[in-house]
Amino acid sequence: MAQPADIRPSLIGMDPAGLAAAVQAAGGKPFQARQLGQWLYGKRVADLAAMSNLPRGLREALAARFCTLTSTVIAREDSGEATTKLALRLADGLVIEAVLMREDEGDAPRYTACISTQAGCAMGCRFCASGRLGLKRHLEAGEILEQFFHMAALLRDEAKGEAPWLTNVVVMGMGEPLHNLANLLKALEVVNAEWGFHFGARRITVSTVGLPERIRELAQAGYQFNLAISLHATTDEQRTELIPTNKATGLSAILAAAADYFRATRREVTFEYTLVGGQNDTPKDAERLAALLLEFPRCNVNLIPMNPVEGSGLKEPTAEAVELFTRLLREAGVNVHVRRKRGRRVQAACGQLRLKLEAAPAQ
Ligand code: SF4
Repeated sequence: MAQPADIRPSLIGMDPAGLAAAVQAAGGKPFQARQLGQWLYGKRVADLAAMSNLPRGLREALAARFCTLTSTVIAREDSGEATTKLALRLADGLVIEAVLMREDEGDAPRYTACISTQAGCAMGCRFCASGRLGLKRHLEAGEILEQFFHMAALLRDEAKGEAPWLTNVVVMGMGEPLHNLANLLKALEVVNAEWGFHFGARRITVSTVGLPERIRELAQAGYQFNLAISLHATTDEQRTELIPTNKATGLSAILAAAADYFRATRREVTFEYTLVGGQNDTPKDAERLAALLLEFPRCNVNLIPMNPVEGSGLKEPTAEAVELFTRLLREAGVNVHVRRKRGRRVQAACGQLRLKLEAAPAQ
């Protein structure tokens, strides 16, 4: 697999000890390492030249030894005012996506970043454009974190006064996060840490197709991240049709791992269920789903009406089917939400912009 072209280590992702060592190597003093951390994680500024309270000589010495941003924004796609999708070209030319979702809930607007963890994806889900491309490579922790800097720049550019900052993070972009767990955990440590971006773990959601052993490893990492599992079907046969990796894992092993996650973290697990017209949206499916979750310790179901992907052969469900499915789950005592907007904006759309861009020449 190709590696990023810049061989200088990145300052993005370093913890305070790493930054102290970097500053020392560049001839700086310990307090300047704290200033560097403030710029990077407090102000979300990655440009060394803009770090005005660091002496120019130190900035140059740091730049000679270390890099910061290795990715560049090569395109943006807005869907109304609510969603902005950024296409980012990595140092080795691969393209990933990061999505900013804005929700205005009166006094408390939400700014959610949907970030990618891999270029492409090995899971091959039929409803997903990334899955059809296959895995190009895992993202380094720094590359996962760089998406936050691009979001910060976007929010700064469009702010009239003081720029808002993200309120929530969903690891639901391109790639299967738990397939790149080591780098994901390194990145989320920075996202969560007081010295880092300082997001409470409860504002961070990790979404997975369900890799049972990796779910347990995530639980053992000691954070209280929200876990969302893409279920999408109620029988193994049906699920393997949509998510080929289910053949090796199977629904019952995934549910058992999810229950372990709940027991270890006390965080409610969310099951994502994309309703595909005529495929998994029947009353029988609703009954089976309710039965599967009957014994599950506290959980939520997010129903996401399918957003058609060209060439997938999968259909949008009818409004009547969505309504009936929701009602049957509720009647069975399942905590359920219908997420139309997510379906429209992000889910199943990942990778489509990248598909267009990878055909274009590098800039
Ligand atoms: S839905 Fe997620 S896990 Fe499945 S192929 Fe797409 S990016 Fe990978």
